[in-house]
Amino acid sequence: MFPRSDPMGHAREPPASLGCGNGSCRTRPVAAFPDRLSLHGQVALVTGAATGIGAGIAAALAEAGAAVGVNYRGSRAAAESMVARIGQAGGRALALQADVSKESEVLAMFDRLTQACGRLDILVANAGIQRDAAFTDMSVDQWDAVIASNLTGQFLCVREAVRRFVAQGPAPASRALGKVICVSSVHDIVPWAGRVNYAASKGGVAMLMRSVAQEVAPRRIRINAVSPGAIRTGINEAAWDSPEASRELLELIPYGRIGEVDDVARAALWLASDDSDYVTGATLYVDGGMTLYPAFADGG
Ligand code: NAD
Repeated sequence: MFPRSDPMGHAREPPASLGCGNGSCRTRPVAAFPDRLSLHGQVALVTGAATGIGAGIAAALAEAGAAVGVNYRGSRAAAESMVARIGQAGGRALALQADVSKESEVLAMFDRLTQACGRLDILVANAGIQRDAAFTDMSVDQWDAVIASNLTGQFLCVREAVRRFVAQGPAPASRALGKVICVSSVHDIVPWAGRVNYAASKGGVAMLMRSVAQEVAPRRIRINAVSPGAIRTGINEAAWDSPEASRELLELIPYGRIGEVDDVARAALWLASDDSDYVTGATLYVDGGMTLYPAFADGG
């Protein structure tokens, strides 16, 4: 029977006929499209997956059929409720505590996931923080905290994922040996006053991702980035939680709406699927046009 919804739960139409003039109805090739997003038989790990964008990506990968490791650092309750949400939707998930900036915790997390699920096919390196300060006031603690979670954390997780992809050998359910998606930010190319630590970390993620992509492509491992613009989550609540703040924010977004977690989750799902099999070393900006220099829209 034709499934009534795609992996994200949105209704989809039954295959449409191209016309039955000669009595032999054919289906449109496009009807097969959503099946190429299937992640059945694959195992994914999403870092920082108890909240925000990570939670949305974990739910999307699980809906597409992957078993998902839901990494969290602090709140076990939030991670367990994410696992329960995925289970209620018919998916499989496991909560995994680890601070991604700590090597021993990262290695133990990967061990627990592969012991429970047998392998790893997809890493989404999403965990990140902000510690904002004017540049001349920025403390070493603020600098170190952001670089540790946002850049060292991605290095440690990506390195361990690549090691596991190579060690476990051919992937039964995927064209690539393994896939990595780094959650970066428009601030990997847009400078950000008052958040020099954050912009430096995301700029670092961009070159980490592209350099690793160059190194591991011959092994058929793909690594790409999703760079969100302004997405409605806890990390940037002050930017959208009042009408004045929303109005100001919308001036930076040509597409005219603030992004939702699902916008980023759909992009990550595509990058994790065989549908993007020839894409590696790329950054997909999911930003409603924020990186299009909207201030120049009227000629500058
Ligand atoms: P969020 O605060 O809801 O999510 C970040 C998650 O990462 C949290 O669950 C946090 O506990 C976890 N985390 C932070 N440091 C960690 C560590 N060392 N170890 C393990 N977990 C850790 O915010 P979000 O908006 O969902 O952010 C997710 C990612 O998206 C971040 O990398 C952020 O930089 C990026 N991003 C967000 C936006 C946006 O507008 N929301 C825009 C661009 C990029």
